[in-house]
Amino acid sequence: MGYLIGNPRRAALFGFASHVVLDIAPHYDPDADIGYVMDSLAGCTALAYIAGSRRIRRADPNKAALYGAIGSALPDMELLRKLFKDVQSEDYMFPAHDGTLPHRQTHITGSTISQLLLLASLLALVVRKARRLRLKTPT
Ligand SMILES: [Zn+2]
Repeated sequence: MGYLIGNPRRAALFGFASHVVLDIAPHYDPDADIGYVMDSLAGCTALAYIAGSRRIRRADPNKAALYGAIGSALPDMELLRKLFKDVQSEDYMFPAHDGTLPHRQTHITGSTISQLLLLASLLALVVRKARRLRLKTPT
């Protein structure tokens, strides 16, 4: 989404706000800590790829994709505290984590399918934007 937005500040704010929507939408959160560790590692890998890819830097010189990804990942950083100490939901600051907003759960299959559909939709929009920009660029 950051790439589609194009502006790094707006992308970061949109990423942060969209985290609320995605936390409210029914999804699967694992019970065991290893799920959070794996999810965090996957997120860090995606951030590192976005930050380090020459191809992405060329297509997104403002780094809007990177700032959007950071903005969207930031709220979940507080969840990692539970790996080191006993944390209750009311100890969290983010409204979708502390119980202020509902954090709906669903089965892993439904969660995975809905996330893949969302990802495919976003990738289709990214490819469309990239093609449009390539057509406008003089050769
Ligand atoms: Zn969250």
